[in-house]
Amino acid sequence: MISDGSFRLDGKLALVTGASRGIGYFLSKELAARGAHVIAVARTVGGLEELDDEITAAGGSATLVPLDLTDMPAIDRLGGSIYERWGKLDILVANAGVLGTISPIGHVEAKVFDKLMNINVSSVWRLIRTTDPLLKLSDAGRALLLSSGAAHSARAYWGPYAASKAAVEVMGRSWADEARQTKLRVNSVNPGATRTAMRAQAVPGEDPETLPTPAEVAAKIALILDPKIDDTGKLYDVRAGKLLGYNNPS
Ligand code: NDP
Repeated sequence: MISDGSFRLDGKLALVTGASRGIGYFLSKELAARGAHVIAVARTVGGLEELDDEITAAGGSATLVPLDLTDMPAIDRLGGSIYERWGKLDILVANAGVLGTISPIGHVEAKVFDKLMNINVSSVWRLIRTTDPLLKLSDAGRALLLSSGAAHSARAYWGPYAASKAAVEVMGRSWADEARQTKLRVNSVNPGATRTAMRAQAVPGEDPETLPTPAEVAAKIALILDPKIDDTGKLYDVRAGKLLGYNNPS
């Protein structure tokens, strides 16, 4: 099932990482426009403040959390702070990510690989760990993990990034399976090529005008956060406009 888009998120609390630009920025605006209070996480304070201005001007509300996701204890503290202030979390969007370098796998520098895995995989696990109990306190907890087509295409030169996104998807599926008996639903999303800084870094020769904007993509991603959507452990393919299943044994 895919949402008809008419849902509201009034009274809901949504945590979005990578909210300072790109897909996370516009997804934050989208969730706030539907009534959610957005906890916006990223390092760039200027980007977060711009987001806050736009959300506020449109009648919404946000809390800004300038945070480097390589700071794992800070992620743990974030969960504690959310519990103390709000007592629950309704939506987690683990969107922040980095590309690393597009190069032959044997040429990737160790520090680039380690940083990529730290941000794209370890910080997502740490977010899962700290938000799992909070999401289960919601009447309809929803978690969405940003993946990529690279996780499945396994193209030459994209190895570390592709591996990081495959890891995220599998973590999400395991988490979804564990949470099946609860109200928490966990899915991944492949946004498809989107006109952002990351895409420009990945494919520098490409004409950005040929790609959908992050606002267009975010509007579609938001549909999967409709509280009425009960699917779990799936991959939402934005370009296909549908949830894809996996060949799970169970
Ligand atoms: P951008 O590069 O435009 O934005 C990345 C976001 O992640 C920024 O807000 C950045 O904030 C944040 N971020 C990066 N490192 C850190 C860090 N150490 N701590 C906190 N925040 C961090 O990327 P996109 O919007 O293009 O990508 C969003 C997601 O979508 C990613 O997971 C990406 O892999 C995925 N994706 C994107 C595609 C595309 O074509 N654009 C295609 C497929 C998947 P700041 O620098 O302020 O900290």
